[in-house]
Amino acid sequence: MNSELSFADLGLAEPLLRAVHDAGYTHPTPIQAQAIPHVLQGGDLLAAAQTGTGKTAGFTLPILDHLLRHPQKTRSPGRPRVLVLTPTRELAAQVEESVRLYARHTRIQSLVIFGGVNINPQITALKKPQDILVATPGRLLDHASQKTLDLSGVEILVLDEADRMLDMGFIHDIRRVLRLLPKARQSLLFSATFSDDIRALAHGMLDHPEEVSVARRNAASGLVRQKVIMARQSDKRDLLSHIIRESGWHQVLVFTRTKHGANRLAEKLVKDGLSAAAIHGNKSQSARTRALSGFKDGKVAVLVATDIAARGLDIEQLPQVVNFELPNVPEDYVHRIGRTGRAGSPGSALSLVDDSEIKLLRAIERLTRQNLEPITIEGWVPPAHPEPAQDAERPGAGGRGRVHSTRSASPATPTDRAGRAHAARRRRPAPMAGRRP
Ligand code: AMP
Repeated sequence: MNSELSFADLGLAEPLLRAVHDAGYTHPTPIQAQAIPHVLQGGDLLAAAQTGTGKTAGFTLPILDHLLRHPQKTRSPGRPRVLVLTPTRELAAQVEESVRLYARHTRIQSLVIFGGVNINPQITALKKPQDILVATPGRLLDHASQKTLDLSGVEILVLDEADRMLDMGFIHDIRRVLRLLPKARQSLLFSATFSDDIRALAHGMLDHPEEVSVARRNAASGLVRQKVIMARQSDKRDLLSHIIRESGWHQVLVFTRTKHGANRLAEKLVKDGLSAAAIHGNKSQSARTRALSGFKDGKVAVLVATDIAARGLDIEQLPQVVNFELPNVPEDYVHRIGRTGRAGSPGSALSLVDDSEIKLLRAIERLTRQNLEPITIEGWVPPAHPEPAQDAERPGAGGRGRVHSTRSASPATPTDRAGRAHAARRRRPAPMAGRRP
């Protein structure tokens, strides 16, 4: 909560302030403080926020404000001014309930429609004027094709939980809906994470959007120990293999940025005698299922995944998560480490960070308001580099075969005593410097 700002400061209309007061809200949540002023100005929005942050009021309040300040003289039946798309019927119902709550002191009308139920009562309801329609994509398109719904009057579009919509395969439906909407409109996109697919969708539907982001409320819960090791990108495979072997981790989920990177890492780990598997979009469904069930029942100790592949996996409460690379957006970091340290069980998240990722590291620390704890690994010495290796995927980088020369120098579990300065010192070892016999 922002202790200085009030809802009145945001400039919302009086009936909305009353509704917010009735709901018992004293101050806007961070997403509300960031999103409301921008939406009130009519701009497009790309927001990273998930359920629990107050995002629904974040878009609903300024939308209601817009409708109040720009009333229509005549309202046509079945021709809403605002469309909110959600992935599931549960979310649709919940959002529409919030719309009603915040609109209770106004005459603004809302309606929710979703599939899996009789369409006829919805057709009847659409014969009355509605200002705000909350819908799931499939049923919405049914109505549009039956001409029981006219989307040509939509002034504001909201895509809620857009990442989930894409996960559920709604991309074509979303594109079909977009084609039915006026080009001149305000669009707001909410998503828990910003994957490349979300970025592509946003690029096509948003006009110079303002980007706002908030962390999950329970982000970086105190139960997750967050550590960081500075390492050259080209050393990371070697280093991680060493850490996993020496620490005896038996269930670790490793995130890589690319599918190719996931494959290369899994191959390296297998070569070093670990049971590891990669899981990503290029793998067949059966290969993914096999890897996942192996991981769950303990046959596979290391699962290497891209963010997108990991999203749909029902694996939670892991003891150990590793970021082989930091994600490009800090919210994805929160999402990743959210898989560990749940429901009272402690977890640990380790990030391998190359110099080129320092900016990302700082952004994560700003978002989570926590500094990751720098650690060093005893008994591991980076392989020698004839020259700085900039290219993460440079073939042969990583000093293959050198593991054995350092392995005997255990114990090599991550040790926590070294400070950031120490970590930084180890970041750029002179070629061959510090190698143990
Ligand atoms: P949402 O993220 O939109 O699903 O909202 C999560 C919960 O936060 C809902 O139960 C809201 O009623 C509540 N909420 C939203 N805004 C505020 C606020 N400013 N102060 C307190 N609670 C809020």
